[in-house]
Amino acid sequence: MIEIKHINKTYKSKKKIETLALNDISFNLPEKGIIFILGKSGSGKSTLLNIIGGLDEYDSGEIVIDGKSTKKFKNKDFDYYRNTYIGFIFQEFNLLEEYNVYDNIILSNKLQKEKVNLNVVDELLKKVGISGLGKRKINELSGGQKGRVAIARALIKNPNIILADEPTGNLDEETGKQIFEILKSISKEKLVIVVSHDRE
Ligand code: ADP
Ligand code: MG
Repeated sequence: MIEIKHINKTYKSKKKIETLALNDISFNLPEKGIIFILGKSGSGKSTLLNIIGGLDEYDSGEIVIDGKSTKKFKNKDFDYYRNTYIGFIFQEFNLLEEYNVYDNIILSNKLQKEKVNLNVVDELLKKVGISGLGKRKINELSGGQKGRVAIARALIKNPNIILADEPTGNLDEETGKQIFEILKSISKEKLVIVVSHDRE
């Protein structure tokens, strides 16, 4: 379980302008299911997700993961957490447009010098509904297909938690619904956290 306790985060620009992005945020996250975090643009959703995912630091407060405070985490603990615990679906997906689907999904494994069985990737492609597109370049895919690649990439390490930052922001309504159906089915086994500014 993850406990978020009194988290504060202020950004300081070079010109010393301060922006309070998170103001005393506390909540607990369950082991699985789907959680939505709703807020207006600029309300701190991406900041919160990045902090939960170990991609950014908070100023004060505490995050407790399975009983251990991240205050006690060393760099290697954060690396381990990011590499095994968390799968990220970024806003705009952040895929490498010139690379194919396989390469995008297994990039982080390659960087870690981990061997990946492409049969496993093919299984994932099937799961997210893009069977057979492994060798297709990202810039030859539709928005919805890109979203599916982003989901497959988040799943490749079989993480406990999927964090999705406005995953349907740039998709038409029907495609957005399909992406949510996939996230919903993932949430039967994992925790899926979705942030959005769009209540609908
Ligand atoms: P959301 O994802 O809800 O739109 P963000 O978490 O991106 O909101 O941003 C929260 C606030 O922090 C906003 O006011 C934004 O302008 C500010 N902010 C975000 N990132 C930075 C940054 N790197 N430097 C300075 N201010 C930032
Ligand atoms: Mg955002």
